[in-house]
Formats: sequence, C-alpha cells, structure tokens
Amino acid sequence: MKQEHIVIIGNGISGVTLARHIRKLSDKRITLISSESEHFFSRTALMYVYMGHMKWNHLKPYEDKFWVKNRLELKQAHVQHVDTQQKQLTFESGEVFSYDKLVIACGSKYNKFGWPGQDAKGVIGLVNKQDLEELEELAPNNKVCKRAVIVGGGLIGVELAEMLSTRNIPVTFLVREKHFWNNVLPAEEAQLIDRHIREHHIDLRLETNLEEIITDENGKVKSVKIKETGEVLDCDLVGLTPGVSPNISFLKSSTIDLNRGVLINRSLETSETDVYAIGDCAEQREPIGNRPPIEAVWYTGRMMGETLAQTLCGNPMEYKPGHWFNSAKFFDIEYQTYGWVFPKPKEGQTDFYWEHEDGKKCIHIQYEKESRIFKGINTFGIRLRHEVFDRWLTEKVTVDEVIKNLKSANFDPEFFKSYEKEIQNKFQYTLKTT
Ligand SMILES: Cc1cc2nc3c(=O)[nH]c(=O)nc-3n(C[C@H](O)[C@H](O)[C@H](O)COP(=O)(O)OP(=O)(O)OC[C@H]3O[C@@H](n4cnc5c(N)ncnc54)[C@H](O)[C@@H]3O)c2cc1C
Repeated sequence: MKQEHIVIIGNGISGVTLARHIRKLSDKRITLISSESEHFFSRTALMYVYMGHMKWNHLKPYEDKFWVKNRLELKQAHVQHVDTQQKQLTFESGEVFSYDKLVIACGSKYNKFGWPGQDAKGVIGLVNKQDLEELEELAPNNKVCKRAVIVGGGLIGVELAEMLSTRNIPVTFLVREKHFWNNVLPAEEAQLIDRHIREHHIDLRLETNLEEIITDENGKVKSVKIKETGEVLDCDLVGLTPGVSPNISFLKSSTIDLNRGVLINRSLETSETDVYAIGDCAEQREPIGNRPPIEAVWYTGRMMGETLAQTLCGNPMEYKPGHWFNSAKFFDIEYQTYGWVFPKPKEGQTDFYWEHEDGKKCIHIQYEKESRIFKGINTFGIRLRHEVFDRWLTEKVTVDEVIKNLKSANFDPEFFKSYEKEIQNKFQYTLKTT
C-alpha cells in the first residue's frame, strides 16, 4: 500500500515538532518545506549570533544527519500556490509537488503599516535568517551604522536595541504607547522597563510615532521623521518591530479560509479537507478562554505540533493549551508571566504590586475581589516555578495562599529568601490599609 505523504510548509518549531512526533508514531512519508533555511534553527536565539555569544551552527538543535536518520525529507523551496482540489503545491520555480495531507506552519512576518520609505535599503525586521544577515551587513559596527532607529516597542524591538547596543551603535527607540509594551504590561512594570532601557543608554521616545522614512539619492535610509514634532533624525538603519502577523499572502490564491491568519477549529483543521494549520500562522475561529486567537509564541507552536501528530496518526485530539504562560528578557531583566495579568485589572478583580527598592525586581498579582481567587502573576528579575503556578491556577487557590506559600514557588530559594518576607509584609499592610 502507498505510504501516506504528509507535507508541512514551514520547518520552524511547530512544523518540526509535528514531523518528529509523526515519525515517533508512524512510518508515514514526511516532507518539510522551507524557503528560509535548509535546517530547523532556534528562532528565539537569533539575537545571540549577532551579539557574538553563539555561532549560526549553535542554533541548530539537531545535527544535520538527524533528518536523514529519521527519514524526514527536507525541501528548500518557496510555495507560491496551494491547490486543495488537486492536492498540489506549486513552487516559485514552477515545480509541482503533491501531498495527501497538508500542514501549513508558515510562521510570521513583521508588520509594516504603509510608512513612506518602509521598503528602502536599510530598513529591516528581525524575524528570519535573512533579516539577521542583512543586519550584519548594514550594521557591522558604529562606523558603518552611526545611528539606528527602532520603531515599535515590543519584545523583538527591545531585543534589537540590545543587539545594536552591544556593538556600541546609538539607538533611538520610538514607542507609540505611554510606556514600553504598555498595551500588555500594567503601568508599573512598563515604567520599570522604561527606566531599564534608558539605563542602557537607549534614547527611548515614548508616545512617539514614525511619520516617514527618508532616503538618499541611492534609495538608502538617510533619516526618519517623527509625526508628533516633525523632528528629523539622521540614521543609517531603521528596525521595524511593531509586531508580527501571519505570513500567509501566498495562500490568498487558494480556497482556504483566511482572516488575519489561517482559520482553524480546535482540531487544528482548516476549511479544506486534509489541510491543517499550526503555530504562528494559525488563527482560532473561536478563541480559547482569554487566549488571543493567534498565539505567536514558541511553546504553543510546539504544543500544536504535538497535538496534530496524534490526530494525523489516528488518535484525534483537540488543542488544549492549558494555562497561559510566557517569558522574555529585557536587557538584564527576566520576565515571566503565569495566568492573566492585564494592563488594568478586569471588572471584579484587583491587584497587588511589590517592587524592590533597586527598581529592577517586582511582582504583580491580579485576583478576584470577592472570592480572592488568584488569576495571574507577572515577575520581573525574580524566577518562579512554572509547575507550581500551573497547579495553583488549576486548583483556583486564593491570593492569600499564593502569598503565604511563595516559598514553594521559588526557583532560587537563596536568592529569593530575602524578598519573600518583604513581599508578605507589604501584602499584609495593603490588606489593612485598603
Ligand atoms: C527575534 C525573535 C525572538 C523571539 N523570542 C521569543 C521568545 O523569547 N519566546 C517565545 O515564546 N517566542 C519568541 N519568538 C516567537 C517564536 O520564535 C515563534 O512563535 C515561533 O518561532 C513560530 O514558529 P512557527 O513554527 O509557527 O513558524 P516559524 O518558525 O516562523 O517557521 C515558519 C517557516 O516557514 C517558512 N515559510 C513561510 N512561508 C513559506 C512558503 N510560502 N514557502 C516555503 N516556506 C515558507 C518560513 O520562511 C519559516 O522558515 C521570537 C520570535 C522572534 C522573531
């Protein structure tokens, strides 16, 4: 009997996790297609190559022989069209490629909002290998790149600022919000990160929008104009980091239902038979709880890959991601979040905030006013255990229990010991005074 052929567009974390798990469970033929790189690499560690902490080869979690050994066929090609009737893909080269089941795992692209000059030489994003190569070419040092302007204050923007500052390239950082990442973080944490960014000599401009990118006679970036003030800032590089969105323009000629991403149901099925979507490019028709319909984070791509492998190997499974969590780093400050902490507590909820006197560590908890049920925590500069918070969220413990038992969530008891008492005292004091 002919082996079923599973074709996966995208060799990122979601596509590769899927392929590995299908291989564990079956003997199906599997092809991974990518136009970006022959082998899978850790996208989250791209920054460390530019910063000199790692070489490109260190980003590859598997040796090159892994793919052959596991009979995972790799194809470097760009998919231009998907024909779901004929079950065929057409590559940019004109080659036609057949599938029995197709999985779209094509990731994200960086946003551009129609700014004049946004496609000029010297304007980059930070999403893929080619972006990194371009950055290396345009900003090897502060002689070639005398100033960079970064537009958009999210997680990738702050990574780019850190990268450039390790090569002593002056950076101006334009952030639309009142404080850094203030559309996600409460004001206290956002201000803590504002200060930290400035401590690293980044020229952070809040409530500031880009008006246009101005180019020279060769079409290369020369300066940017700021909307609010009309100020013109000379620069050699513009980093566009105002978020990412699904990289799905090549699917517009297909019959697959699209919105911002590829629309899927809980079983990760698209509108077309035998076509699925996972990872950054997938958009839930009905969002799960408070989760965004598009979850552009590493671990959810991995979970979707694991889940879909079960379905494709005869054990139908729905995507159930559990409690929200995430982590990141802002220069030297680590951030973790478990459950939901919104910029402002939701109706019927309230919060508790503690910040260390050094202004570099804090925790922020949100909880239900009436029942006192714990809803979520942000930590900055302090590491807490994921499994403990996951259990507390499942057991719906109260905020009082969380504060009392913080010790059991300590990742590093020695380090945290000194703050625990302070946090508990502040919590007790807050209870008495509110
Ligand atoms: C700089 C950076 C830092 C990040 N840091 C974090 C972090 O700290 N924590 C976290 O949780 N997440 C982080 N993320 C997000 C995380 O990396 C993504 O959520 C994850 O990599 C998405 O995986 P994916 O498999 O969905 O897609 P991707 O990894 O994007 O892979 C998709 C692949 O498909 C290819 N492709 C697309 N279209 C086609 C086509 N038509 N034909 C052929 N190939 C195609 C793409 O070129 C790409 O190689 C970061 C992202 C970036 C860019």
